[in-house]
Amino acid sequence: MAGTVLLSPHPDDIAYSLGGSILTGFYPPPMRIITIFTRGSLAPRRSDLTDVDRISKIRALEDYEYGREIKVRIQRLHFAESSLRDTPSPPGRDPIYNVVKEYLSAKLHGLKDSLILCPLGLGGDIDHLIVRNICDDLGFSYICYYEDLPYVNRISIEVIDAFAARLSLKPCYIQVDPVMDPKIRNLLIYASQVGISEILEVINHAKRLGIHSKSGGYQERIWYKKASSFQVLSEDFSTST
Ligand SMILES: [Zn+2]
Repeated sequence: MAGTVLLSPHPDDIAYSLGGSILTGFYPPPMRIITIFTRGSLAPRRSDLTDVDRISKIRALEDYEYGREIKVRIQRLHFAESSLRDTPSPPGRDPIYNVVKEYLSAKLHGLKDSLILCPLGLGGDIDHLIVRNICDDLGFSYICYYEDLPYVNRISIEVIDAFAARLSLKPCYIQVDPVMDPKIRNLLIYASQVGISEILEVINHAKRLGIHSKSGGYQERIWYKKASSFQVLSEDFSTST
């Protein structure tokens, strides 16, 4: 296994969705994060900021600080997030789709044996859907899908499970109790984006997954498709269902 590539549509997606399981050492090293849509206009926790360049710069600094904190290299691509584009639906019709696909394909060419982690695309964010569809198009051997926080907390567990079942995905739960505090501290590095209400959503989702899995405590959950891939990976996975 040639390490793990964590695909983050925006800065903060990995910290939200996988920030606990990363700290438990769950994924094969070395890990690298690729942040794809790095030019943005949204800074809901910094209402004083309106300029796209300034917001993008602050978000970049947050992203690099997170990488330093968890000791994972962050590579940032240069694409504009959906708020700065015309975004036709479905995602395959977005003019940026083929450009991002080509770029990611080249970037990941030498990493075919790596575990790829990409968003499920729950919650309807077009950038997340674009990344998931591109990953499906590129057909990686080892790929798992993570639940898009905080949006996923606004969807019932039953609806999430039915969504994943339609994609023929199976769940893998990761116990994150010992790392919930540092996960939250690290998430707050993204200070232009994350406030107390988002933190509460992260905690709530981790807790309801604990109840749903019957293991209790706090959990993160990823999904996988091919049993054969998962068996290969399971040597590296410390917890699975
Ligand atoms: Zn995102």
